Amino acid sequence: MREGGKLGQDGQWLVITESVYIENKGWEHQCGETLEAVVLTPPILDGPEKITVDKIPYCPICEVAPIVKDGQIQRSMN
Ligand SMILES: [Zn+2]
Repeated sequence: MREGGKLGQDGQWLVITESVYIENKGWEHQCGETLEAVVLTPPILDGPEKITVDKIPYCPICEVAPIVKDGQIQRSMN
């Protein structure tokens, strides 16, 4: 399994770039599973553009749910 909460080259969530949006269902990953999301309260700042993040999408089949601590996504392989 891959670590969740990764950003792709275009600054989108990597898992979103691998998914398609289906009306009335949500984002479906390439494996066929509907994406889930870690909801953050309060929102955190992340990424090079310091975008405000309040939800982190991930695939419950292919990815480990992202863990957020002290306003940052915890990375196990830095
Ligand atoms: Zn998946």
